[in-house]
Amino acid sequence: MVAVKSGGELKNKKLQSELAQLPAVDELLREGAKRGLIPRFPRPVVAGQIRELLAEVKAKVLLNERPVKAMLAEAVFWPRLEQKLIDFLAPALKKVINASGVVIHTNLGRSPLPAAAVRQIAAVAAGYSNLEYDLDRGARSIRYVNVEALLCRLCATEAAMVVNNNAGAVLLALSALAAGREVVVSRGELVEIGGAFRIPEIVTQGGAVLREVGATNRTHLGDYEAAINEETALLLKVHTSNYRVTGFTGRPEMRDLVALGQKYELPVIEDLGSGNLLDLKPFGLRGEPTVAETMASGVALATFSGDKLLGGPQAGIIVGRKDLLEKLKKHPLNRALRIDKMTLAGLEAVLKCYLDPATVIEQVPTLRMLTAGTAALKKQAQRLRRVIKSSCGLKAAKLEMKVAAAVSRAGGGALPMVELDTFALFLRVPGQSATRLEVYLRTRSLPVVVRIVDDWLVFDPRTIFPEEYAEIGRACQELLSLSLK
Ligand SMILES: *Cc1c(COP(=O)(O)O)cnc(C)c1O
Repeated sequence: MVAVKSGGELKNKKLQSELAQLPAVDELLREGAKRGLIPRFPRPVVAGQIRELLAEVKAKVLLNERPVKAMLAEAVFWPRLEQKLIDFLAPALKKVINASGVVIHTNLGRSPLPAAAVRQIAAVAAGYSNLEYDLDRGARSIRYVNVEALLCRLCATEAAMVVNNNAGAVLLALSALAAGREVVVSRGELVEIGGAFRIPEIVTQGGAVLREVGATNRTHLGDYEAAINEETALLLKVHTSNYRVTGFTGRPEMRDLVALGQKYELPVIEDLGSGNLLDLKPFGLRGEPTVAETMASGVALATFSGDKLLGGPQAGIIVGRKDLLEKLKKHPLNRALRIDKMTLAGLEAVLKCYLDPATVIEQVPTLRMLTAGTAALKKQAQRLRRVIKSSCGLKAAKLEMKVAAAVSRAGGGALPMVELDTFALFLRVPGQSATRLEVYLRTRSLPVVVRIVDDWLVFDPRTIFPEEYAEIGRACQELLSLSLK
């Protein structure tokens, strides 16, 4: 009798003999060492990536997609392993090129730092520093004394401190000055900034009770006054950073609110959000008073971010009355929100840029980008077109490009209503969808983030650094070799 094997059994047997060809991890590790992958990459990482790759091979064999031999082939397995090792060890948090035209782009790390700040951070980070050490007295000191003096000067105020970020600054101020008591806020200012920062919740988190007054569009001085009682700790003003109520609106002048606070001996605190140190009105950017202007109106404390309009590292800056700031400095939460030495080094360098109003715009990238004029931007867009053309060589004919007017944004909750006029480079590859091209640019090893408008990729020179043009040229050349789909 002849034994007849079913198709299923045959297939099983074939699979088993296929899988039996898979080498052991140790064997591959030895081979990897011979090929120099160890010590070029750490041994445990090589072992881990070999296991992953073997699992992939196995899965493909089981799906009957490819034979083991083909996947273990010299030209397939080892280059693939090497690439996996390179990818695994490459920084995951890395540089991207921001061609979106959103200057203070929270998802892309907000403000790029001035060169002086980067140098100072590196110098402090690499070794020891006098972070909390007074070198003249040879005794312990407070970590933010140096930036405090600078901030007092730049904000025309008597005291200052810095914490981790502005959300922390607001929380600290409320916790230190209003815990167990009431905080009066206009209903028009009960905002959510994003990233779960909501005024009602932060007031509660600070241990205070929110007393909302007025209406969404209009709040009068009388509304504030009616809400004041023995439990009131302070009046809080909040910059409605990322939205505006327009039309039939109204709110008391800051001076009047301050006078009301004085009448009842209550401090007025303002969460400025962005907080700019430079008057941007001459550049046509209206609607953001400087911190010094805010302080001049008699506000007791103001809080703002280090990495929005200021153009520095992430930080929460609190300026104002010395007696109040003493309470904040002594509060246990201050320790929890403590600012790091690298941030301090960067912040000090950025603040020093502001000491010379004649050069600050050139030195602080955020300010330079925000104030760039359309004539210069148009030239930049044209230059970008030339760079792309020359990197694509003969193939450039396959690209469609035009320089046209567009709109950039300040971002970061700053100047929400301001549309910044710009000139951008519009690019498309006939036959390819803009979505597919955008994904390619965003996921390449040095990502380029662009906007899409009407199936065109839009490169806004406002947020592109001059030294990044060549890389964008290379990226566009790569777009041309994507298979047509
Ligand atoms: C951005 C912003 C915050 C949060 O500041 P971070 O520095 O991001 O913590 C708080 N309040 C206002 C009004 C803001 O605009």
